[in-house]
Amino acid sequence: MNAEPFLEPRLCVDLDALAANYAALAREAAGAAVAPVLKADAYGIGLAAAAAVLWRAGARSFFVARLSEGEALRAQLGAERPAEIFVLDGCPEGAEARLRAAALTPVLNSLAQIARWRAQGPGPCALHLDTGMNRLGLRAEAVARLAAAPELLEGLELRLVMSHLACSDTPDHPLNARQRQRFLELCAPFPGVPRSLAASGGIFLGRDYHFDLVRPGISLYGGGPFGRPHPGLAPVASFLAPVLDVAEAPAGETIGYGAGFTVDRPLRLAIVACGYADGVLRSSAGHGYGWLHGALRRSLGRISMDLLVLDITGCDAARAGDLVELVGAHLPVDEAALQAGTIAYELLARLGARHARQYRGRA
Ligand SMILES: *Cc1c(COP(=O)(O)O)cnc(C)c1O
Repeated sequence: MNAEPFLEPRLCVDLDALAANYAALAREAAGAAVAPVLKADAYGIGLAAAAAVLWRAGARSFFVARLSEGEALRAQLGAERPAEIFVLDGCPEGAEARLRAAALTPVLNSLAQIARWRAQGPGPCALHLDTGMNRLGLRAEAVARLAAAPELLEGLELRLVMSHLACSDTPDHPLNARQRQRFLELCAPFPGVPRSLAASGGIFLGRDYHFDLVRPGISLYGGGPFGRPHPGLAPVASFLAPVLDVAEAPAGETIGYGAGFTVDRPLRLAIVACGYADGVLRSSAGHGYGWLHGALRRSLGRISMDLLVLDITGCDAARAGDLVELVGAHLPVDEAALQAGTIAYELLARLGARHARQYRGRA
């Protein structure tokens, strides 16, 4: 269908897989609303396409991190798709008018943010309660202040109270149950307000963690909730790059910057048009792989800005123009991330740098 030659790295996004993952998460969290997290350009998948697919799949609330992400999402959805858009950064000083103009719902993280948003007049908001992450969110003392002085919230339409789990990728971590218990306690002053605790990992911790709304990110995009591929979730992103040249390296030579790899026997090399400027992490040097001609081929030497080198010794079929899969069906995003010493989140977020995206499936 696409006769255009494949000249540069490309992120191929399977939108049907994204919709299937949404449905799988909705089944897993049956009874709770599923509000996709679309921060960081939908984890590198592309905000516009992801929002369109997820709206059609049934999502009516979304989360982003930044104000500008919320504005972009509102513009994408348009007046025909009036979703509730929660902004995790909340209401920093100076954000009030823009939040209001784009009809965004700030997730208020402090008493100061609450006062600031309230000063604008009546409006919707969510409250972020800190239950043990010690990052953003109202601590127990601040919640006690609100409980003692409900007028601090007067005029605000409380749409959601939420918290975030620190260790939901580790199901037996004791902090999970502790955070859930604290969440129940901190929610007590807000009876009747919908509650949300679970992101991807929390969804797979079971019903006790689902409450009224779940907020999956990585698992929508094919990353497993526990840092490894999950059989119920389909890969969404494939990252492909073309071979620019095939070469031989005699024993005794070195490969790449810093002479980072010494050739100990004659090797056949594929030089691939992909480097750290395309999102291949430099930290994968010595541990990374690409899938080419039916096998995983290890990467040799340092990752350059625009190039990497694969060992294809024994593979005579490889030619310039062949495609290497760096993430995809043969190299799940969780495994490629592990090879680079990181997690699927960072890998996906960084794949956005310089490539074209190609969408398959129903947009
Ligand atoms: C990023 C984020 C999520 C989504 O987390 P995943 O682990 O990707 O599912 C949910 N809630 C909050 C507050 C977040 O920051």
